[in-house]
Amino acid sequence: MRVLVAGGGGFIGGHLVKGLVADGHEVRSVDVKPIDQWWQEHPDVENWADTDLMGADACRRATKGVDQVFNLAADMGGMGFIENNKAACMLSVLISTNLLQAAVDNDVERLFYASSACVYAAEHQTDPNVTALKESDAYPAMPEDGYGWEKLFSERMARHFREDYGIQTRIARYHNVYGPNGSWTGGREKAPAALSRKVAECVVSGRHEVEVWGDGEQTRSFMFVDDCVRGTRMLTDSDVTDPINIGSSELVSINGLIDIISDIAGITVTRRHNLDAPQGVRGRNSDNTMILDRLGWEPSTSLRSGLEVTYAWVLDQVLAAAGAAA
Ligand code: NAD
Repeated sequence: MRVLVAGGGGFIGGHLVKGLVADGHEVRSVDVKPIDQWWQEHPDVENWADTDLMGADACRRATKGVDQVFNLAADMGGMGFIENNKAACMLSVLISTNLLQAAVDNDVERLFYASSACVYAAEHQTDPNVTALKESDAYPAMPEDGYGWEKLFSERMARHFREDYGIQTRIARYHNVYGPNGSWTGGREKAPAALSRKVAECVVSGRHEVEVWGDGEQTRSFMFVDDCVRGTRMLTDSDVTDPINIGSSELVSINGLIDIISDIAGITVTRRHNLDAPQGVRGRNSDNTMILDRLGWEPSTSLRSGLEVTYAWVLDQVLAAAGAAA
C-alpha cells in the first residue's frame, strides 16, 4: 500500500513509519520540521521535511496517490506545553481539516486520526483512585481546555467526513505514550521522559534530588510506543468506526513512576515537590473493555520493561549532551 504518515518526523510517527516500511509499504513521511530535527529518518521512504500541513495545498500534494493516511501531526507536548499553549494546540485543527478534505478530494480510502485521552470530561478525573475512562465518558463534553477541545472537534469531523463522504476514518484516543526517540528535554517532554532525564542527570551529577510537579500522588497509565503502533495499525485495518481507547491500564502514581525509574538507574532520589507546576487531571486510566471486545487485544508491555528501554535511551542523550557541553 501507499501510505502517508503526517507528523512522521515526530515521536510516534517515526516508530510507525519504521513498522510500515518493515512490512513492505511505500511510505511518504511528512513533517513541518527540518530533517535534522526528525526523531527518526528512515531510508527507502519519501521524506518531506519543512512541509506545513496546516496549508490546504500541502495537504493536497501530500495525499496525492496514497491509499491510507495516518494523521499524527499536531503541535503538542506534555502538560507544561499544553497548559501554556492553548491557541497553538487548537490551531492543529487546520491540519485535521485540510488533511481530511484533501484525502476526500484525492480518493484516499482510509484515514487514521490520533486523538487523545485529553478529550475526556474533567469531572471523571478528579480522584487519583480513578475509575478507568470508558469511551462514552467523553460526553457530555468538558475536555482539557485548548488541546482537548481541538481533539474532540477533530474526532467528530472525522466521523462526519466518513458518514457524509464515505472515507473510512478510524480514531484512537491515545493515553500517554512513552518510549525512545521522542521529546526528552526542551519543554514538550512528558512525564516518563522528563523523569528519566531528571534521574539520569542525578546519576551524571551525583546530586540525587529531582523536582516533581505536584505532590506526585496524581495517577496515570503509560503506554509503550510499540504497543501504540501495533494498536494504531490494528485499528486502522479494522471495522471499528467509533473512537476507541488505545492505552495501558496499568495505573501508577507519579511518585511510583519515579520509584521505578530510580530503581532502574540504581540510585535513590529525594523529591522536591513543586506545587505550582502544571499537573493536569488528578487521576486517569484507560478502560480497555471496548478494545478487548472489538480488537481482541490491549497494550500489555509492562511499565517496568518499557521504562528500562526508555531510560537507557534518555541516559544516552543526557550523556551525549553533557559530553558536547564539556
Ligand atoms: P510529536 O510532537 O513527537 O509529533 C508530532 C509531529 O507533528 C511533530 O514532529 C511535529 O513537527 C509535526 N507537526 C506539527 N505541526 C505540523 C504541521 N503544521 N505540519 C506538519 N507536521 C506538523 O508528538 P507525538 O507524541 O508523536 O504525537 C503524535 C500524535 O499523537 C499527535 O496528534 C498527538 O496529539 C497524539 N497523542 C500523543 C500522545 C502521547 O502521549 N505522545 C497522547 C495522546 C495523543
